[in-house]
Amino acid sequence: MNIPKTSFPRVVIVGGGFAGIMLAKNLKNQELQVVLIDKNNYHTFQPLLYQVATGGLEPDSIAFPIRKVIKDIPNFYFRLAEVSEIDTNKRKIITNIGKLKYDYLVIATGSKTNYFGNTKIEKFSMAMKSVPQSLNLRSLILENFEDALLTSNLEERNALMNFVIVGGGPTGVELAGALAEMKKGILPKDYPDLDIRQMQINIVQGGNRLLNTMSEIASEKAEDFLIHLGVNIYKNVHVVDYDGYKVDTNTDLNFEAATVIWAAGVKGATVNGLQNECIIERAERIKVDEFNKVKGYKNVFAIGDVACMSTNQYPKGHPMMAQPAIQQGKHLAYNMIAEITNKPLKPFIYKDKGAMATIGRNKAVVDLKKIRFQGVFAWFVWMFVHLFSLIGFRNRAVVFLNWVYNYIRFDRETRLIIRPFKKKP
Ligand SMILES: Cc1cc2nc3c(=O)[nH]c(=O)nc-3n(C[C@H](O)[C@H](O)[C@H](O)COP(=O)(O)OP(=O)(O)OC[C@H]3O[C@@H](n4cnc5c(N)ncnc54)[C@H](O)[C@@H]3O)c2cc1C
Repeated sequence: MNIPKTSFPRVVIVGGGFAGIMLAKNLKNQELQVVLIDKNNYHTFQPLLYQVATGGLEPDSIAFPIRKVIKDIPNFYFRLAEVSEIDTNKRKIITNIGKLKYDYLVIATGSKTNYFGNTKIEKFSMAMKSVPQSLNLRSLILENFEDALLTSNLEERNALMNFVIVGGGPTGVELAGALAEMKKGILPKDYPDLDIRQMQINIVQGGNRLLNTMSEIASEKAEDFLIHLGVNIYKNVHVVDYDGYKVDTNTDLNFEAATVIWAAGVKGATVNGLQNECIIERAERIKVDEFNKVKGYKNVFAIGDVACMSTNQYPKGHPMMAQPAIQQGKHLAYNMIAEITNKPLKPFIYKDKGAMATIGRNKAVVDLKKIRFQGVFAWFVWMFVHLFSLIGFRNRAVVFLNWVYNYIRFDRETRLIIRPFKKKP
């Protein structure tokens, strides 16, 4: 990999997401050599992927070059590579560009979509975990309307304008809200010769309420907002099959839909090579202790979505969200520095800053520790928090300008089919 040897211990961080970037930033100017590895040369701000998918933001505005994060820091290296395996006996990682030895290894590979073993759903549905996937979805949504214009078969046209979102968590709710805004403000203007009222947006939620990790009032309000926007909500229903056209559920309900978006679950994006006992089977997360050390290893750590730290308050691990990832990244840096300077380590304690979700224009729900609010003010808070969580001044400026423009003009200018999406046969 062409990384020079130094007398400093080498920390290899796999993954430049929220956790990996925060760790790297907080390790600067220490007596360590830091190598950050990611399969992309950019960091993705996943909370705004749905806006890329619905033509509200350019993909570049929610991605940030990883090399820029570590620019001008001595002893820092970035390599664009996919890690396929870890050899803990030889203290090496194996990647598509070669092997690399480590003194400390930090796995910060995040999560991937969980289809719960249903390969047909995996093949035919759309996921929204990365920038390319969001661009695929954006293309597919627009291609469906182009195709709907051409067909005289009513059933086919309805299926092309029928969107099924599986999962009523923040991703499903936010996407449904954005699609509903497109239905109201954009699509009737772009496709005047189609009856856009035929477009259906459906959320299928396995549990008995939307946003089930938030307060009940947030769930109720989100549901009210979505119903007001014309979204159909089906609760206590599980999608069990999809063949690219027909969606089957565990009830009598079924749909004919050209687009199913799978937002029903994630699992850890683990890397091969750790002992089986370290991995939690169903969630595929790596078991770590309160110092983020992988159980059974002295010098291997995991942080962020991929790590499962079971505590009294969070027996199933911390929520797979940005805040735990950011806080674990920062905390592990503290402990690594403490270890090399012979200071006592501190166990990780998660500070829950709350949760929020937006449901279209002027509508959001916010649960903070002591207060909960919904509506326009919540929407401004949501925008402010997301804007300032983005990395890079350019990204913040571009997103802000886009939002102001979209708000004033009721528009979404990036409804472009740049890279046509070809459906799987
Ligand atoms: C659509 C969507 C909306 C979301 N909305 C919110 C929200 O509103 N609020 C919130 O708090 N959280 C939200 N989340 C969750 C949040 O984005 C994650 O919890 C957070 O990104 C986890 O950070 P991480 O550093 O663990 O992983 P990630 O940010 O996923 O980063 C992992 C990195 O590892 C790299 N990688 C993975 N495998 C390999 C490999 N084998 N080799 C090399 N590199 C690898 C990836 O390329 C990636 O850069 C959302 C997620 C999605 C998908």
